[in-house]
Amino acid sequence: MGNPKAFLEIHRKEAGYRPVNDRIHDFGEVEQTLNTKDRQEQASRCMDCGVPFCHWACPLGNKDPEWNDALYHGEWETAYKLLKKTNPFPEFTGRICPALCEKACVLYHTTGEAVTNRENEAAIAERAFLEGYVTIENPQRNGKKVAVIGAGPAGLAAANELNLMGYSVTVFEKNEAAGGLLRYGIPNFKLNKAVIDRRIQVMEQEGVEFRYNSEISGESGISVISGDYDAIVIATGTPTARDLKAPGRELKGVHLALELLSQQNRVLAGMTFSDEERITARGKDVLVIGGGDTGSDCIGTAHRQGCKSVTQIEIMPKPPVGHNPNTPWPNWPVILKTTSSHEEGCTRRWNINTLEFLGKDGKVTGVKVQPIDWKPNPEGGRPLMIEAGEPEIIKAELVLLAMGFLKPEHPEYPENVFVCGDAANGASLVVRAIASGKQTAQKVDAFLKR
Ligand SMILES: Cc1cc2nc3c(=O)[nH]c(=O)nc-3n(C[C@H](O)[C@H](O)[C@H](O)COP(=O)(O)OP(=O)(O)OC[C@H]3O[C@@H](n4cnc5c(N)ncnc54)[C@H](O)[C@@H]3O)c2cc1C
Ligand code: SF4
Repeated sequence: MGNPKAFLEIHRKEAGYRPVNDRIHDFGEVEQTLNTKDRQEQASRCMDCGVPFCHWACPLGNKDPEWNDALYHGEWETAYKLLKKTNPFPEFTGRICPALCEKACVLYHTTGEAVTNRENEAAIAERAFLEGYVTIENPQRNGKKVAVIGAGPAGLAAANELNLMGYSVTVFEKNEAAGGLLRYGIPNFKLNKAVIDRRIQVMEQEGVEFRYNSEISGESGISVISGDYDAIVIATGTPTARDLKAPGRELKGVHLALELLSQQNRVLAGMTFSDEERITARGKDVLVIGGGDTGSDCIGTAHRQGCKSVTQIEIMPKPPVGHNPNTPWPNWPVILKTTSSHEEGCTRRWNINTLEFLGKDGKVTGVKVQPIDWKPNPEGGRPLMIEAGEPEIIKAELVLLAMGFLKPEHPEYPENVFVCGDAANGASLVVRAIASGKQTAQKVDAFLKR
């Protein structure tokens, strides 16, 4: 710990976002960066606590106090080496991790001003690429082969770890490029796709083979490749989004969130779509159903496409603002979250149930909704939903369903087949997917060394 008084004298300083009126005209990353002096000063605020809860909260067990100290002293290469020990892709988490560590930070608990771990992580990763600390490893091959199915963060983490252990790794990916939801879910304004390409190039140079447009589906798909590999890792994510089977669902203009998000990301990558296929919010009133992060990404995308207005509705009650006694520190606080996309303009409503999609000439024109309330269930379990007011109509020419994903079910696979990431645990976070991929690589290694 370099400066024992820094946390008393220096306040948390975030780099912040580009101004709204600038950023909504493009899909460039919204987050800015601090200069080197400010960044090192922010790192100096880390107190290297006796019990560092940030380790505990980070699914990767990142050692934030260690690399914050190196960063404070301007030892960027050391900081990167410490970070790399636990996190193979800090350039991803540094941009889009919700920073579980920061909400567990002792400074968050005591002053509300956590150390800026996530931004520090991104700064270390970017400096490492810029100054050449990201070296190409040349692992000695051990003669065994592993197939990884799915090139999202879980599959990439498993492939990376196994490759560095000496296995010959082939990644089968059904899409035309790697990244999973990093590439085809998360908008470019949160994560520029060149950041993914840069990491894939490193992995390729280190020996990982990527086969794109290669779908390996179900037990039959696995049995086709199983003869060629000693072990198989399934990292196929959560392919099925939760749908809303209300009357009128078939109307044109009602889409799953990922239909919009993945298409927009592909358009930015240079792909073209016919007018018939193209989903756009341009000139439309947009309704997003689902109050979570995917819904928020739809809002930011709709703004950049030139929508007239955006409303986001959520069936659950509004979370508490600032503090939630049900999720005390150091747990992740379930509180109201306002994202950069919300800041760009949006009407947010809670306790709203969707009854019906309304339309004219086959196209959606609005959604009939019902204000509701929740009351405790006398028999225990899920609270009971009760009506609270008259049904109303929200005008919308584009409706986006952002209500989460179904957890996949898996058959009993042979003992050399392993499942990781969202495919194993249900929809979660990039940092958890990376951690799961790494842990699975260790299991594969233990299995193949029996
Ligand atoms: C819109 C959106 C925004 C999000 N924003 C954030 C965020 O800001 N921060 C955060 O931490 N998390 C975020 N998440 C969650 C995060 O993206 C996921 O938890 C994470 O990507 C899961 O990683 P994964 O590798 O398990 O699965 P995925 O990322 O889903 O990757 C699975 C891969 O497997 C491939 N695949 C599937 N089936 C097959 C098959 N049969 N054969 C070959 N390949 C196949 C898919 O094409 C895909 O590339 C977001 C999710 C969404 C939907
Ligand atoms: S990966 Fe996320 S939780 Fe872990 S140290 Fe980085 S920002 Fe914090």
